[in-house]
Amino acid sequence: MNFELTEEQRMIRDAVREFAREKILPYAREWDIQESFPRELLYEMGELGFLGVPIPQEYGGAGLDFISEAIVFEEIGYADSSVRTTLSVQMSLVELTILNWGTEEQKRKYLPKLCSGEWIGCFGLTEPGAGSDASNIQTRAVREGDEWVLNGQKTWISNGTWADVAIIFAQTQPGSRHKGMVAFVVETNTPGYHTRKMKGKLGLRASDTGEIFLDNVRVPDSARLGEVGQGFFVALSALDNGRYGVASGCVGIAQYALDCSLEYAKQREAFGRPIAGFQLVQEMLANMYVETEAARLLVYRAGHIKNKGERSTIAVSMAKYYASEVAKRAADLAIQIHGGYGYSNEYPPERLWRDARVASIYEGTSQIQQLILGRHLTGIEAFYG
Ligand SMILES: Cc1cc2nc3c(=O)[nH]c(=O)nc-3n(C[C@H](O)[C@H](O)[C@H](O)COP(=O)(O)OP(=O)(O)OC[C@H]3O[C@@H](n4cnc5c(N)ncnc54)[C@H](O)[C@@H]3O)c2cc1C
Repeated sequence: MNFELTEEQRMIRDAVREFAREKILPYAREWDIQESFPRELLYEMGELGFLGVPIPQEYGGAGLDFISEAIVFEEIGYADSSVRTTLSVQMSLVELTILNWGTEEQKRKYLPKLCSGEWIGCFGLTEPGAGSDASNIQTRAVREGDEWVLNGQKTWISNGTWADVAIIFAQTQPGSRHKGMVAFVVETNTPGYHTRKMKGKLGLRASDTGEIFLDNVRVPDSARLGEVGQGFFVALSALDNGRYGVASGCVGIAQYALDCSLEYAKQREAFGRPIAGFQLVQEMLANMYVETEAARLLVYRAGHIKNKGERSTIAVSMAKYYASEVAKRAADLAIQIHGGYGYSNEYPPERLWRDARVASIYEGTSQIQQLILGRHLTGIEAFYG
């Protein structure tokens, strides 16, 4: 067992850290208020190779390992979870899914554009009536000759209104749940494809979230990702990658919560001394420190399993569940340490707290992760009554 990063991983960490702390962190508050961030940032990240970390070079990626990918998400997540979410969806949910399930033609067509930031991707699984229970989606796919006709609605889709290409999950046989599900790669300029931006989110405000409306959207059969009936497994395998990105980003939130709390505690005085000298404040800092490190190790362990090419569902679920809960606790403690100032958007903790909140909801709630782990431990399926 080796707990050291390789020379290459350290170089990536330093490069992403420098970029994130210069080009993202100073603007995160402003972007949060504006509920958007500049699209150009993605071109810049694409040029630096941050948008295609684990994608092979032949498809325009950087061809690096999964620990490097986690490092990129952690460093970007430290600076701004909205940008990290955009990146996670692009790289983990869209690119890796096309890499793992796409035809050679699909890989050559989409991956270079996505890795460079020329195109943005989104992942359309959730619907107004189906979130945790994803096999209950109602979007219909009907075969007509060499084409499929898609009708339905998706909601809560990150990158939803920005995307040039979307992975859309649909049902071919109503009532058959996962057995009839199918996935498609849909170009968003296809007639009948419409979006609407969702505003007013608690956190992650700068991240684009949208609804997608599919009104007789016609796609060729060559847009299918995997076989008919495999859609649910495409979604689950995508989530093994997506949840890994969320977990890594949460380590970044927790680390920033700790760093800004430490800085504040050393300079803020009460009762004639820096509050960092009080044992009860040190207890909060120590808890943040231990939990952040533990979350990071769970992420790296999941990355190690991914690097070996083994199935990572359980390790990823554990990392996502733990890291998302840790990020919430760390952000909450950071507010406590900042006292009244922690309650203001003049200081980072309140944004961290709002941004952390979604991580135990999206890409499988904490309850869903617990059920996955419970099923693994007991062998008993608790999802259906
Ligand atoms: C900001 C944001 C971005 C998102 N981005 C995307 C995206 O890019 N693509 C996409 O497809 N989706 C996206 N989502 C949707 C997200 O994945 C869902 O919100 C999530 O899976 C939960 O589904 P739901 O909201 O329908 O909640 P529900 O499934 O209705 O769950 C409500 C509550 O019931 C609990 N619950 C449900 N089933 C069980 C059970 N069997 N046992 C115990 N408790 C249970 C849940 O844990 C939760 O507490 C996003 C959501 C948000 C908020």
